[in-house]
Amino acid sequence: MATTKTTSKKAATGSESAAKSASVKLSSDKSGKTGKMEDSEFHEFFVDELKDIYWAEKHLAKALPKMKKASTSPELAAAFEKHTEETNTHIATLEQVFALLEEKPQAKKCDAMAGLLEEGTGIIEDTDAGTMIRDAGLILAAQKVEHYEIATYGTLVAFAKQMGHSEVAELLQFTLDNEKATDVALTEIAESFINEQAVAE
Ligand code: FE
Ligand code: FE
Repeated sequence: MATTKTTSKKAATGSESAAKSASVKLSSDKSGKTGKMEDSEFHEFFVDELKDIYWAEKHLAKALPKMKKASTSPELAAAFEKHTEETNTHIATLEQVFALLEEKPQAKKCDAMAGLLEEGTGIIEDTDAGTMIRDAGLILAAQKVEHYEIATYGTLVAFAKQMGHSEVAELLQFTLDNEKATDVALTEIAESFINEQAVAE
């Protein structure tokens, strides 16, 4: 009859776990906030990281056409054109994610992407137009960007899954797969002829 659960543990973790186990949306803490996941610190952190990659994608979408223009080979130019379109899809996907989470799609400066794009600009300045060294350098810059995106989306997918946002996780996974495919495609272009010709220049 007395179904009181072991309270010894509760004493150790305090009111925090007690509030969680109540799992009633209306339960409020001292600040008057509800105990929903949307109010949790981790949710806020997750949304902040989404804003960071949103900024990154938006700026990449502007940089890729410049990289396309700077390319020597039509193959690399085509790859940059393709990924510009895909990057616009990544932006739209993030907007869908914000909507699902009932958050505003806000961009927050991503220092890492800003630095990577600056590096790309530096490579264009340091190499001559019409050379394969230019293309090899552009691929280097682009792959650094793709790897950064792969790391970011990989973690965001894991976070989304952990928080039970399965639809969000699926959307982010779709982008992650595309970033990985882009990286592979860039390697293929580099290794099929660009690196070889760059070395011979
Ligand atoms: Fe992307
Ligand atoms: Fe990308």
